[in-house]
Amino acid sequence: MKGDVLVLNSGSSSIKFGLYDGEEPALPLLGHGQIEGINGQTRLSAFDRNGESVIDEVVGDGLDHGQAMAALVEWGRQREVARDIAAVGHRVVHGGTLFDGPVLVTDAVLAELKKLDPLAPLHQPHNLAGVATLTELQPEMPQVACFDTAFHRHVPELAQRFALPRKYHDAGVRRYGFHGLSYEYMAQALPDIIGPTLASGRVIVAHLGNGASMCALRNLKSVDTTMGFTALDGLPMGTRCGNLDPGVGLYLQDEWGMSSAEVSELLYYRSGLLGVSGISNDMRTLLASEELAAQEAIDLYVYRINRELGALTAALGGLDALVFTAGIGQYSAPIREKVCALAGWAGIKLDAAANEQHGPCISTKDSATSVWVVPTNEEWMIARHTRDVLNSAAG
Ligand code: AMP
Repeated sequence: MKGDVLVLNSGSSSIKFGLYDGEEPALPLLGHGQIEGINGQTRLSAFDRNGESVIDEVVGDGLDHGQAMAALVEWGRQREVARDIAAVGHRVVHGGTLFDGPVLVTDAVLAELKKLDPLAPLHQPHNLAGVATLTELQPEMPQVACFDTAFHRHVPELAQRFALPRKYHDAGVRRYGFHGLSYEYMAQALPDIIGPTLASGRVIVAHLGNGASMCALRNLKSVDTTMGFTALDGLPMGTRCGNLDPGVGLYLQDEWGMSSAEVSELLYYRSGLLGVSGISNDMRTLLASEELAAQEAIDLYVYRINRELGALTAALGGLDALVFTAGIGQYSAPIREKVCALAGWAGIKLDAAANEQHGPCISTKDSATSVWVVPTNEEWMIARHTRDVLNSAAG
């Protein structure tokens, strides 16, 4: 491929971007940044390949997604950074049952993806707004959609099923799983970092960021994961509840008179670490707090990680390696320590000094299951997919 790859991750209030050199086999990062404060005070910040700031400015007030994207495109044009962009790769959270890999965006593809908005209301509409705006601004630019669900698309059918009549499953009411771009990055990075034999065994990756999930890998393929139909399921997260008896939602509506919008707001925005602590969704704040409620939120978080570790280990029939990644997984030695302390049942023995230094290997030599810290890189994965899709489209 000739030229660069621009990666866009359009969220509810920000658009993150990264620029990669598509002509180099290793796809090195040329620069990155974000537009924050969409629908508020909108700020553009960007960094070059050395991490030096190249802009940090308010670019407008109350800009919507389209206007923010236009500001980004215009800045790129003026700085001539956009001159060599050959393709744009988008993070799109939901690919439904149709897409099991990245796809070149067409009107028909976009129409299919829009149908999935209700399955990921927090992310999908914003992801697609990025695609639609760029299509308007630069209709000739090839765009590739890369999905968080795709990596889990071929987990065994039992792991995809809810215990509902089949017609619901056939109509798309099934467990999809998310964070697939992170797990896919792991699958391609792990052989080099933890060794090919261990990597192809029974591995659980814990993606612990503001969103959080865990994935069971066998032979570097997803066999089960903690998230399901929406990105609410599984582990408690920054503001999302994680696994919850579906009866709770019914009860709150029937007995407390809460509307479905109120229940949705509770489960997506006012639960998880924030909801339990009443203090913050940020693990750093909770770890630094003396409040009992902060401790309670951390304890529940760790308890639930250990419980899911047990469930996924059962799905794998044993465990060879546990890998921590994403914000909390990569940077929080205390959380990893607490998880490993509860996971003695899996033969895990933590090397405290290695854990303080963030690994990569943080288990002792005699630990029956080895434990690792490996940074994820979803944006790079999107850049790789985008280049691959373009190269195969070019024949
Ligand atoms: P991510 O979504 O992967 O960017 O992760 C963001 C989350 O990581 C933040 O909300 C924090 O809770 C958490 N985080 C980042 N750095 C640390 C740290 N040093 N200690 C604990 N948590 C952290």
